[in-house]
Amino acid sequence: MKKVIPFVFMFALCSLIFKPVISVSSSQSLAKKVIVLDPGHGGMDNGANVGKVNEDELNLKICFALKEELESRGATIYLTRTDDQDMTKRDYNYSKQDDMYLRVLKIDEYKPDLFLSIHLNSSSSGAWGSQVFYYQNSQEGKRLAQNIHDSMKPVTGTRKNISPCSFYVVRATQSLGVLIECGFLSNENERGQLKSSKYQKKLAVSISDGIESYYQSLNSGV
Ligand SMILES: [Zn+2]
Repeated sequence: MKKVIPFVFMFALCSLIFKPVISVSSSQSLAKKVIVLDPGHGGMDNGANVGKVNEDELNLKICFALKEELESRGATIYLTRTDDQDMTKRDYNYSKQDDMYLRVLKIDEYKPDLFLSIHLNSSSSGAWGSQVFYYQNSQEGKRLAQNIHDSMKPVTGTRKNISPCSFYVVRATQSLGVLIECGFLSNENERGQLKSSKYQKKLAVSISDGIESYYQSLNSGV
């Protein structure tokens, strides 16, 4: 028995010294996070449009790129819509109010860690650039918006800043979330980029990086 003890001791010591480093690989950095993606508009509501380019279609494509990127980092993703229908799934009597009401219910139903409402902007002034909006009374929303904005900036080159708002989707939801205007469809240059799947992928990567930075900032207590 006496001889066994040193062995046990040595084994315990070795296991302390050579303790395997269990690290979450960067590809699983968003494991256990539930994220809802909300592609704006759909169905009879095309959102902004220029010629044959419709916002609702591009919102969906950006969300598909985001889904792929976020899933590759371990997150569980739900979408409020996956085809060209709004939440009412009606092809008559379109009601923005009904659509938004159902959208909010659907987002909260998943009890997500956060949600992103994805949109494209339009203006007659030639404006361009991405912009992230957060609910005006939400400090967490502001923090999330800032992290996503900082990460998107090198990709979109935006000179805009994050902005407080009281848009229904961020105001009425119980969940933490932001609304991202990824760029202006009305700006010819930006429209060209927004239509390209390569750029959609870049947006998806930068937004995902922003979400990671947000969680890192929470963990580091900054
Ligand atoms: Zn929109």
